[in-house]
Amino acid sequence: MKVNHHALELEQNYLFSEIAKRLRAFQKENPERELLKLSIGDVTRPLSRVVTDAMKAAAEDMSHAETFHGYGAEQGELFLREAIAGYYAKRGTTIDADDIFISDGAKNDLGNICDLFDSDNTVLLPNPVYPVYFDTSIMSGRKVVFISGTKENGFLPMPDETIAADIIYLCSPNNPTGAVYSKAQLAEWIAYANKNNAVILFDSAYEAYIRDPELPHSIYEIPGAETCAIEINSLSKTAGFTGVRCGWTIVPKTLQFDGASLHQMWFRRTATKYNGCSYIIQRAAAAVFSEEGLAAVREDVNYYMENAAIIKKAMNEAGIMSTGGENAPYVWFEAPKGMSSWECFDKLLQEFGIAGTPGEGFGNAGKGWMRFSSFGTRETVQKAAAVLNQLK
Ligand SMILES: *Cc1c(COP(=O)(O)O)cnc(C)c1O
Repeated sequence: MKVNHHALELEQNYLFSEIAKRLRAFQKENPERELLKLSIGDVTRPLSRVVTDAMKAAAEDMSHAETFHGYGAEQGELFLREAIAGYYAKRGTTIDADDIFISDGAKNDLGNICDLFDSDNTVLLPNPVYPVYFDTSIMSGRKVVFISGTKENGFLPMPDETIAADIIYLCSPNNPTGAVYSKAQLAEWIAYANKNNAVILFDSAYEAYIRDPELPHSIYEIPGAETCAIEINSLSKTAGFTGVRCGWTIVPKTLQFDGASLHQMWFRRTATKYNGCSYIIQRAAAAVFSEEGLAAVREDVNYYMENAAIIKKAMNEAGIMSTGGENAPYVWFEAPKGMSSWECFDKLLQEFGIAGTPGEGFGNAGKGWMRFSSFGTRETVQKAAAVLNQLK
């Protein structure tokens, strides 16, 4: 037997184990000091009551022969697909419930969707970005090219006609920079993809954090996306589902490549390798889209975005310019005085007891930058803000 040698090409994730190691050492050396984690990439607020009530009711359904559910529909239950289509419709975007596939989270499908594409395709990735796109492309043996997000382009790299790409991952709002593409910018990406016969994989996991009414939440808000884009989203960051697991992937029937329908291919692939998100979780997910559920989402988002505003205010007072944090739960800033990401990480930790995330963990274009997350508790964020203004 030969192993998949591409899987051996993955770099060990030194960064996150190195962060954990340094935080452990800090706590051991300073048992009396509180560690303020602005490095957290997971939500902290609990599920809303309407969601857990739906979960309990669905669990009850399962204990009666009349309402018991075995294997579900291949694409996910219609009640949830219709609820998601209704969520898009509220913003004026028409999505056919039949084009939606329910998943157990975005990360899985961000990798799995590449089952549809030849391994001889070139993948184009923004840099810095969520590391999953790179790792999954490497594991499947695909060539990867990068376009850099920089201070100059506002961390929103645009298409370059001199780069030939077949598969393009876009993450908007971006993790880690918090940057969000405008409609005009996405229109350029769509034009590039349609012209070059490329597919866009659009990760909208943070769309619920967008506050500027001009910014697009979905790539399908822009004409032309229906012939080049797949959208992947999840309830993880929107409704606290990181430990519950539910997401969706939209594969429009209008996507035709090489004379094949990506929708049909994805349906076939899903039916082959996946037996669906559990009925109980799909009921819980549908409750997120109820009036009460969406009100709870707004409350959670407001809470985290207030955290982001507190962090940004403290940064401003310290004279450190930051980006992000206005339409995304991440604040992104350049390490002051030419410090490297790691020097800044150590200074924040040793002097202020604050944990941040070095930007280079998201690609080499993140070197010299740091990410703060606003997913902590208000108390943590306030304590961090009270000392951050001394960071120089
Ligand atoms: C957290 C996150 C996701 C969500 O992943 P799940 O598997 O749904 O929990 C997707 N994309 C990005 C960029 C993320 O940061």
